[in-house]
Amino acid sequence: MKPTILLIEDNEKNAYLISFILKNSGYRVVEAMDGKTGISMVREIVPDLILLDIQLPVMDGYAIARELARDQKLKKIPIVAVTSYAMPGDRERIMDAGCAGYIEKPINPATFVSEFEKYLPAGKKAAGKGESDG
Ligand code: MN
Repeated sequence: MKPTILLIEDNEKNAYLISFILKNSGYRVVEAMDGKTGISMVREIVPDLILLDIQLPVMDGYAIARELARDQKLKKIPIVAVTSYAMPGDRERIMDAGCAGYIEKPINPATFVSEFEKYLPAGKKAAGKGESDG
């Protein structure tokens, strides 16, 4: 079974690009475009990893990460923030909210997969397109 990534991102272009890259690397991608929908999808599908935009309608990324951190089961899912915020202190805020890591926008399609795979739980890495199962 393919590892499942939940992508919470309100910008259609970014969502399309990230989703395309991940699917191409052998992941199943589920998308949500706002925080409320994102949280209900986390509860419903329990993804292997969450890619989280910070600037989102309804509920921002910090609020989403904090809410998931309060849930004993869901807090085990690694959250990786994907954001263009680069102000001093933002990285700390993101980590304080409960994220495992941070990838800066604009994303680099050549390195994105290897960057986010650092945060995947052991054994959850996709076999990848064109790679053998061995
Ligand atoms: Mn956004």
